[in-house]
Amino acid sequence: MTTTERCIAAADAHSAHNYHPLPVVVATAEGAWMTDVEGRRYLDLLAGYSALNFGHGNRRLLNAAKDQLERLTLTSRAFHHDRFADFCTQLADLCGMELVLPMNTGAEAVETAVKTARKWGYKIKGVPDGRAKIIVADNNFHGRTTTVISFSTDPEARADFGPYTPGFEIVPYGDLAALEAAIDDDTVAVLLEPIQGEAGVLVPPPGYLPGVQELTRSRNVLFIADEIQSGLGRTGRTFACEHEGVVPDMYVLGKALGGGVVPVSAVVSSREVLGVFAPGEHGSTFGGNPLACAVALEVIALLRTGEFQSRATELGRHLHDELRLLVGGGAVDAVRGRGLWAGVDLNPSRGTGREIAERLMARGVLVKDTHGATIRIAPPLVISKEDLDWGLEQLRGVLEG
Ligand code: PLP
Repeated sequence: MTTTERCIAAADAHSAHNYHPLPVVVATAEGAWMTDVEGRRYLDLLAGYSALNFGHGNRRLLNAAKDQLERLTLTSRAFHHDRFADFCTQLADLCGMELVLPMNTGAEAVETAVKTARKWGYKIKGVPDGRAKIIVADNNFHGRTTTVISFSTDPEARADFGPYTPGFEIVPYGDLAALEAAIDDDTVAVLLEPIQGEAGVLVPPPGYLPGVQELTRSRNVLFIADEIQSGLGRTGRTFACEHEGVVPDMYVLGKALGGGVVPVSAVVSSREVLGVFAPGEHGSTFGGNPLACAVALEVIALLRTGEFQSRATELGRHLHDELRLLVGGGAVDAVRGRGLWAGVDLNPSRGTGREIAERLMARGVLVKDTHGATIRIAPPLVISKEDLDWGLEQLRGVLEG
């Protein structure tokens, strides 16, 4: 038995089967490359679902983490610590907002956004108690908690996990008229991904996001942008909303905020909105911990250089130019995305997304399929053009072979 086989067999025997990983056991990584327990190298075209935007083993992030590890890792929010104010100030500034509420995982931040919007609805907007409604889009992905899957349209995510949390209405993504019709006096928020990642990197029609902004403003409803996957450089801008000149009322951030080093998430909004919380009403033992703040501060500093956004723009243009050439040749039905982020719909005649991912793995490239025949390409933003080209060559090889 190889080390890989042993590791996978032990994981199969002792872990819940809530994932179906590719049969590779990664041991080390640097930049855009990972090495498995057998010493085989793989180009990472997933980047931890965009948590690793700044690359594996980013020196600046590791140094920030190491320095902080030696000083202070956790106080809980029972006490102040000396990295917290700086983190909140810097993140609010990066977002052009006023207040930050830090959490750990993406789903927790989405839960926080839901609670914030409901409380804002009751205390500020004047919605009658217990009636707050939040509008979401079909094919959304906002996480895995009970409330969050309550408004999922993915049967796999929902089945057998009810009863579900009420208070959500689902409308078609990209359809402004449907959104307008759904907004009523009890509506407190519209929660959307500016680009739907898990759905296959779906970019809404031009004008949709500005239309959502206009509608929500005119109807006194909060526009919550879940930028957990789309934000922090991936699309070529700090926020995907920026491509359409849109500023939501609330950002929900996660993934790359922790640089792939520690889980860090946050809700960022105005004083009017996040000001609704009083002590004891919400929190998390690890939310806003010193280690998380230190790493996130370095992430913010990296984003302020603009270097990663520029790389995503330039390499993204190249990626999409190359991928578009594959459309119409029989193997690829459609390509979507923005920046260094693409959803590639494979023609089912070439195999399922999973089969293509396995064939790519055999050639030293790691991607993940989503929803049947779609694969997602989202390398660390530090990837070189040569490595990206090599990865694309492997994709062409697999599709032709
Ligand atoms: N929201 C979006 C848009 C996501 O893509 C994800 C994860 O893929 C989440 C929320 C959930 O984040 P987490 O897995 O950290 O809970």
